[in-house]
Order: sequence, then C-alpha cells, then structure tokens
Amino acid sequence: MGTVNEISRVYPWGNERRFNAFPDYFRRLYGSRMQKVSVDAGFTCPNRDGSKGIGGCNYCNNKAFNPSYCLPSKSVTMQIEEGIRFHKKRYRKVDSYLAYFQAYSNTYSSLDRLSALYSEALAHKDVKGLVIGTRPDCVNGEILDFLRDLSQRCILILEFGIESCYDKTLLRINRGHTFKEALDALTASEERGLNTSAHFIFGLPGETREEMLNEASIISDLPLKSIKFHQLQIIKGTKMEEEYQKNPDDFEVFDWEDYLTFIICFLERLNPRLVVERFTGEAPPRFLVKEVWGKKRSDQIIGLIERKLEELDTWQGRWYEGSKA
Ligand code: SF4
Repeated sequence: MGTVNEISRVYPWGNERRFNAFPDYFRRLYGSRMQKVSVDAGFTCPNRDGSKGIGGCNYCNNKAFNPSYCLPSKSVTMQIEEGIRFHKKRYRKVDSYLAYFQAYSNTYSSLDRLSALYSEALAHKDVKGLVIGTRPDCVNGEILDFLRDLSQRCILILEFGIESCYDKTLLRINRGHTFKEALDALTASEERGLNTSAHFIFGLPGETREEMLNEASIISDLPLKSIKFHQLQIIKGTKMEEEYQKNPDDFEVFDWEDYLTFIICFLERLNPRLVVERFTGEAPPRFLVKEVWGKKRSDQIIGLIERKLEELDTWQGRWYEGSKA
C-alpha cells in the first residue's frame, strides 16, 4: 500500500489531496502559481514535412487545441500579449506566465532559430519561463545541452508527446517513433537535470483496457517529473476519423463513467512520485466526431475524480508495487 499518514492524512507529496497535483507541485518548486500562454511559432514536425512522413499522426489536428490568439503569422511577443489579455479576464490574480510552445514540434529547427524564439518569449516582462512541447525524435545532445544551459536561467519544462508505451500502437497511429526512442530522450534529458513531462492517450485503437492499465507500471519507472493523460478524442478531418467511420468497433471511446473507473484504477497503480497535470483532453465539441461526455471543464473533471477517490477512500499509488506501506 502507498504511504499515508493515517492521523493527518497527508500523502507522500506533502498534502491532503489524493493525487499528486501539478499546481501544488509547481508552487512547491517555484513559489507561486503561473499561467501558461500558448505560442504557435510556426514549427512543423518530421511526421509532416516528409522527413518521416507527410500525413502526421493519425489523430492529429493541431487546430483542435490551439487557442484562437495563436497564429504563426503573429510574432511570439504579440501572441504572448494577446494570451495574457485573454487569461487576465479569467485569472485576475495571476501575473506571471510561462510561454507554452505547444503546436507541432518546438525543438525541430536550428539552434539559432530556437534560441531567437525562446529569447523573444523570455524578454517579455511577465514571462518567467518556458514549456516546450516536442517529439522524442526531435531532441539530440546539442539541443538538450542548450536547453540545460537555458534552464539554469529560467523555469523550463520539456514536454514530450509519447502517447503509448506499446510499439504496436505507435505504429498503428503512425507516430513515426518507437517507445525506446521516447525512453532514450527522457534518459538523456534527465542526465542533464531537465524537468520533463510527457503526454499519454488512453483509448488508442488496438489497445485493451488491461494493456492501458499495465502502462501504469511502465510509466511509473520512466525518468519523468510530470504527466498529462488524455482520453482519445476522434477529431474531424483526421485519418483516425476515416478509420473510425470504417471500423468503429476497433475503438474504445470511453464514456465518462467508464473513464472515471479506469482513471481511478490507473492512479492507484501509478508511482506517487509522478505529478499529474491533466486527466483529460478538451477539444472544442465542434471538432469532435463523437461527443460523449457532455460539457465538462477540466477543473470540474478534477473535482469529480477527487470526489470519487474520497468515496472509495483510495489515492494515487495505493497499489503501486514499488511503494512502501
Ligand atoms: S501529433 Fe505532433 S508529432 Fe504527430 S503529426 Fe501532429 S504535430 Fe506531428
């Protein structure tokens, strides 16, 4: 069983929440809350520009998560300004930001260009750091050394899209890299002391529930600090939509109750050291082939998951094999 102080109910991550939540971790590490502002700096990715493929991953449509103020035709500074104005309406108290290089693969360019784009973001007075989203095959020793040096001057989180621990799935969704490449990128990042995060998707075609649940023990051993989980959302106009229309039985599109049960079981098996940033993705309904959850915002979803954890009197890492009771 996971370690828990029975009297005060303080969990291994130092508070009473039943999972190791990202905002608390971030505040512990950096002293305050910060809001991400997304930036689309006009990158592409090797799975789109022909280096590895041209069609991209089968589920990919960057428009489905890019905020409206993010357009590569605007400068990085302009996008940050507009993003801050957008967020100020919702989060009045936040006055520090992280520039989130989110769309496509944000380390896939020359060091000179990367350096210029990141420096432009960091030159904004309210930007305290960077979150850089990329693919495992878009980093190398030179880029990681550069990021290590940069991370000594600002907050820097390097976020990898990994999506599945199984090569058969990565092949099926046309990711264009293997799980071993993901592991190598994470290891090389850890060796340089970088703060790394990763995305995973649940419900990818060809994966059974058992296989998805087994990923908890694989992910638990990865050299990672934080994780984002997403349920598969089939986005209009993607190759995955075509596959889904041809063979819907091949897809396990979770309904909400199912996902809630699954994610609780998954959390119970997950290493308590890993910080969870998201449990779900939220593509706008107009992009979705099948809307199955109704309107639930990310904060409502977290509330529902926490309520369920409480109801079942369980917590992240309860059944993690490496944990000590
Ligand atoms: S999901 Fe990412 S890696 Fe895959 S095609 Fe889209 S931008 Fe490229």
